[in-house]
Amino acid sequence: MFKNYINGEWIDGKTGKDNINPSDITDIVGTYARADVQQANNAIEAASAAQPMWSASTLQHRFDVLDFVGTEILARKQELGNLLAREEGKILPEAVGEVVRAGYIFKFFAGEALRCSGEHIRSVRPGVEIDILRQPIGVVGLISPWNYPIAIPAWKIAPALAFGNAVVFKPAELAPGCGWALADIIARSGIPKGVFNLVMGSGSTVGNVMVNHPKVDGISFTGSVEVGRQIGSQCGQKMKKVQLEMGGKNPLVVLDDADLNVAVNAAVNGAYFSTGQRCTASSRFVVTEGIHDRFVKAVTERLARLKVDDALAEGTEIGPVVDDTQLSKDLEYVEVAQKEGGKVVYGGERLKRAKNGYYMSPALITETTSAMRINKEEVFGPVASLIRVKNYDEALAVANDTPFGLSSGICTTSLNHASHFKEYAQAGMVMVNLPTAGVDYHVPFGGRKGSSYGSREQGKYAVEFYTTVKTCYIAP
Ligand code: NAP
Ligand code: MG
Repeated sequence: MFKNYINGEWIDGKTGKDNINPSDITDIVGTYARADVQQANNAIEAASAAQPMWSASTLQHRFDVLDFVGTEILARKQELGNLLAREEGKILPEAVGEVVRAGYIFKFFAGEALRCSGEHIRSVRPGVEIDILRQPIGVVGLISPWNYPIAIPAWKIAPALAFGNAVVFKPAELAPGCGWALADIIARSGIPKGVFNLVMGSGSTVGNVMVNHPKVDGISFTGSVEVGRQIGSQCGQKMKKVQLEMGGKNPLVVLDDADLNVAVNAAVNGAYFSTGQRCTASSRFVVTEGIHDRFVKAVTERLARLKVDDALAEGTEIGPVVDDTQLSKDLEYVEVAQKEGGKVVYGGERLKRAKNGYYMSPALITETTSAMRINKEEVFGPVASLIRVKNYDEALAVANDTPFGLSSGICTTSLNHASHFKEYAQAGMVMVNLPTAGVDYHVPFGGRKGSSYGSREQGKYAVEFYTTVKTCYIAP
């Protein structure tokens, strides 16, 4: 059994859970510990006891720890990428890419640990000086989803440690393998015991303890809207700092003046790569009349050529859906869209492959409207719906007609439309002639409206969540 890491020791779970390969459900990646309430409490107590010492640690020590972790991740990118593809179903090149990203995130925050500083400001009163200090918030609970099992843990753990917080980390039970591998590296990085703790187990047990424990000062959560909303209100009641990154219903607008090739590439990549299991995936194509038929034809032709198979097999372009529950949900949404009047022009069916896995053909549904459920609710699978519009103004209105606001894309050769869209798209991230998914590791990430709550993650903006400021007035 892969154990939890609590107060510097590897601890067996009270029970365990098998981590299953969605490309081949006879392949068990491993059995991973499930902590109980007591073990989750122990981890929080350990973090709380260790945090003051970590807060007082030298910046050099923090840099060295984070740099060590980044270096080892990068050196083991093939092996860790293999693990990621096996446990989550992302194809190997994408999985290796995610591992590399995680490595660079640790390197980036090694540097941020050195750069984090306060301000010195003169007072409006004579003889008084003001120092604004940035201090860690204390113990942070980090809760991550299964779809980026190494990058998301990295972009939470690295800034948390860089700025002097102690960590209790809970990966998703569906894909805990990369979280465990990351913990194993961190455990050998020279970090003092108790500063970093891995507590695998269910959200309803371990996650719930983290959210409600009085010694957890902040929660950074990425996952579904329902769970996020619940955690947000619990944290509000307990006066805990909270940051929530949740779902999306990201539009890709395609205008008549778009370069068709660019638009089709952006659409196919954004909607279907990583099996559509990206919070930034394009799930709504908003297409103007003049290019509509050419766009649908070209996307359909491309989808027909995409190879859906084992995530680890050479040449696979789309891996399996993560599990049977998600697969049923994806297929159900295709049905819902059809019942509402949508036309399935390609895919949306369960596929059989040599190995028994959760395979599905990428689905394109045309003739849909903004009012339909398929355009309101997040599917989180290889399913995209298309809304035909008259012109740019209608396209912008439809793109914004959603409770979500994570990523929003446009394909156009018009600088006017691109600039206008950049200004008026209601989203945390805007992409012009690029897929809605696929972002850099050194700049802020997050959304608006129902997609995100609290300050941004990643880049130098991560400091907002993982530190608090203290304003000191000094009369010498
Ligand atoms: P999820 O079901 O909400 O789970 C996310 C995490 O929360 C898991 O670790 C889960 O534990 C835990 N959890 C569940 N119930 C909890 C509770 N009551 N208290 C505390 N923690 C709890 O989401 P998911 O199915 O793993 O991931 C898919 C979702 O993530 C999608 O909606 C996607 O859009 C979103 N996502 C958003 C972003 C972003 O940055 N905006 C990025 C990636 C994914 P267990 O599952 O282990 O029980
Ligand atoms: Mg889940």
